[in-house]
Amino acid sequence: QKSAKPVDYNVIINEAFQLFKNEKGGKNANYIPFLDKVDPDMYGIVLVTKEGQVYQVGETRYEFGIESIEKVFTLCMAMEIFGDSAILEKVGAAQTGLPFNSVPAIEQGGQKPSNPLVNAGAMATTSLLTSHFGHAEAWDKVNAYFGRFAGRPLTVLDELYKSEATTNEHNQAIAMLLKSYGYMYDDPLYACDFYTKQCSYGVTTRDLGIMAGTLANGGVNPITKERLLKEAYVPRVLAIMGTTGLYETTGDWMYKVGLPSKSGVGGGIISVAPGRFAIAVFSPRLDKAGNSVRAQEAIKYISEKLAANVYLGK
Ligand code: GLN
Repeated sequence: QKSAKPVDYNVIINEAFQLFKNEKGGKNANYIPFLDKVDPDMYGIVLVTKEGQVYQVGETRYEFGIESIEKVFTLCMAMEIFGDSAILEKVGAAQTGLPFNSVPAIEQGGQKPSNPLVNAGAMATTSLLTSHFGHAEAWDKVNAYFGRFAGRPLTVLDELYKSEATTNEHNQAIAMLLKSYGYMYDDPLYACDFYTKQCSYGVTTRDLGIMAGTLANGGVNPITKERLLKEAYVPRVLAIMGTTGLYETTGDWMYKVGLPSKSGVGGGIISVAPGRFAIAVFSPRLDKAGNSVRAQEAIKYISEKLAANVYLGK
């Protein structure tokens, strides 16, 4: 296995930063009022090695909405508790080829939530956790687990949560539909609200780099050295990221870049080079599927420079 010298990482992320500094393509998410108001020019890149070195450039301290990236860590927690077979059976691992909040995807997918990284599957996964812990304890448990991934306590951006919670009728409808098909494991509107709160975590690009770095490091947080996911489950989580992490454009992404990744409409994307490093990029302008335009460009560049495409087998 080849890995670049520490100094190379710095040079490469700085090159990526400069190259795409003037990229203005895409638009902030506007279906969640709060996200529409975020400064679209913010841009940060963090690379975390499995040994725990952190390289960063640009806006890496601003707390933005984690949004769909939370789905990865909810999946990790559920897999730890219920095992990998339960996830396949109760949620699924199928690509939908459709947007992240698609209702037809549920109908076409045998009335199943499809996978844990679309809204339906994420809410189903959350409902497994909330029913397991009970409503009185669930938030504290989930919150503690997320904080261990970041290596610091995370908090919800209250304004973002309120903004989404008062406009998320579409997700509520999905939760109810899943309930009717027997794929919701707790009160559907409770699970939907809990999921919305999880999506409203404020994270920095650095936090995301460390969270993703845990997956690059076989399930052990590279900074705190705490194991958060069984090693055998890491490839399962990465497989789901690699088939659906950028929604309906994941195929193109894997063809071009070849890194299991996850995007969020807050503008973040995480990518994992298993056994080597993780990259987190933040830039709010999104393409039509809801993936940050500039983050995709920066990650593609870094991945090429470091020969990180998983299919290269390096
Ligand atoms: N909270 C957002 C939603 O449910 C997350 C979507 C996303 O990041 N793709 O619509």
